Order: sequence, then structure tokens, then C-alpha cells
Amino acid sequence: MEVRAQVKEWRKQGLSVGLVPTMGYLHEGHKSLIDRAVKENDRVVVSDFVNPIQFGVNEDLSTYPRDIEADKKLCEAAGADLIFHPTPEEMYAPDFSTYVEMQKVSEGLCGKSRPTHFRGVCTVVNKLFHIVSPDRAYFGEKDAQQLAVVRRMVRDLNMDIEIVGCPIIREADGLAKSSRNTYLNEAEREAALVLSKAVFCGKEMMEKGERDAETILSAMRKIIEAEPLARIDYVEMVDADSITPVTKAEGRVLTAMAVYIGKTRLIDNFIMEV
Ligand code: AMP
Repeated sequence: MEVRAQVKEWRKQGLSVGLVPTMGYLHEGHKSLIDRAVKENDRVVVSDFVNPIQFGVNEDLSTYPRDIEADKKLCEAAGADLIFHPTPEEMYAPDFSTYVEMQKVSEGLCGKSRPTHFRGVCTVVNKLFHIVSPDRAYFGEKDAQQLAVVRRMVRDLNMDIEIVGCPIIREADGLAKSSRNTYLNEAEREAALVLSKAVFCGKEMMEKGERDAETILSAMRKIIEAEPLARIDYVEMVDADSITPVTKAEGRVLTAMAVYIGKTRLIDNFIMEV
């Protein structure tokens, strides 16, 4: 109610509102979304909420890193106007019973090993959209399937919100920034470089003209399989909008992977228009 009242006040003043949904433990990847939102909107809301319903039963909900004080500082420095940091109890009544479920786009890639994940994402994003009523919402290409899922939900359910996709921010050595990188010990942090190495290899092959999905994917898999601490969940090439597998790179294609480094599941990808 407080968030709604504030946004209503802004609206009365004719101000535009951008929303950046996050699970907190903010890093430069999140900051790039906030920076973009600050540029394109009069007011920016950052939601900071570890959404329990997008975690599977054996996943890392209880250990997911949290640091709201550091998040507040980052948001303030980046020029965000409001942090929405609800408790799980505020978001989910004990008899909560309404979910947004998507077919197809949410079924491949991460949806295979995380079958209830996108239902949790769609539901919480829907709730955030209704609470904040933003003009624009910002999502990272780091979670490329999530971005495709949110775009599809907004189209299918006629939501009057512009979805803005933002490029992947990486560490200097290539590793995509992620709150989950904090789980990695020193050896795992080094091993995690196989993800970005495989991404750069696949990208280069495509830039040089290779179009056969299997040729590209097997070169990428080989890089990952050479690392003893790495275990592939998937490495696949799909249409970037529908998330259906392709055998040839044509149109806007997403080449995406999920790889376990020890117990930590990391994702990375690249999107290319060919
Ligand atoms: P999370 O807190 O991990 O749920 O991420 C919140 C938003 O930040 C999502 O839209 C992510 O795609 C985006 N994001 C996370 N890491 C990165 C990154 N390294 N580069 C760009 N966007 C990111």
C-alpha cells in the first residue's frame, strides 16, 4: 500500500516510473539495469525480494545471499528513488492460490531442470507489475529465457509495460556477474571461467560464419567437459523469442548454458542475429 501510494503521487505529478526487479545482493549487473532505468524514467523503483516460489525444493532458497544495507547504498548511489523490500509473508498470504503459468517458452532450457521456476517468476513479476504499475521494467540478458518469458507474458496478457532488455555485465576475466558467484571457492571461481570461455568460442565461430548448431555446441561442450569441477546441465541453441531448439543459426538465436561448478549452478549465454 505504501508503494502504491508513492507511485500514485508520482503519477499525479505526471512523472514516469521504471521498475528493476531483483533478488538483491546487488552487483554491477543489477546496477547497469538501475542506471538505464534512471536515464529513461523520472522515478525508479528497485524491488529487492528473494522470491521463495521460484526456488525448487532442493534449491538454494535458504542460503541465497542477502545484504539489504549494501543494496540500499548501491541503489541510492545509482539514483534509484525507492526500494521495495517486502517480506515473503507480505507477498504470499497463507492461503495464496493464484499462479501465472506459461507453456512452451518456459519449458525448455532452465525449465527442464527447474520445472516450477518460471511459474514462480511469472507470478512474482505479475505481482510486482500490479504493485508498482511501471511504464518500463528492466531485465538482464544474463537470464535470457526469463527475459523471453516476461516478454511473452506481457504480450499474451496485454500488460501496458515496456520490457527493456540489458546486456550481460562480466567480471574482467569474462565470468558473468551473479549473486551466486559468492558461493564459489577459489578453485571453483577459476573453473567457472569455462562458461564464458565456451560463450566466447561459440560467438567467434558464429561470427566466422559457422551456422550448424551441433558443430558450435559440441565445440562449446568440449571446453566445459575439459574442466573436472564442471558438470553440464545443458548447452543448447534456441530461437531467442520462442526458446524452441534450432539446428541452424538463423534469425535471432540464443545459445545458452547452465553448468554446475561444484554445487553451484551457473548460467551464461549469447544472443546473435544472423
Ligand atoms: P537476480 O537478482 O539475479 O534475480 O537478477 C535481477 C535482474 O538483474 C535480472 O533481470 C537479471 O537478468 C539481471 N542481472 C543479473 N546479473 C546480471 C549481469 N551480470 N548482467 C546483466 N544483468 C544481470
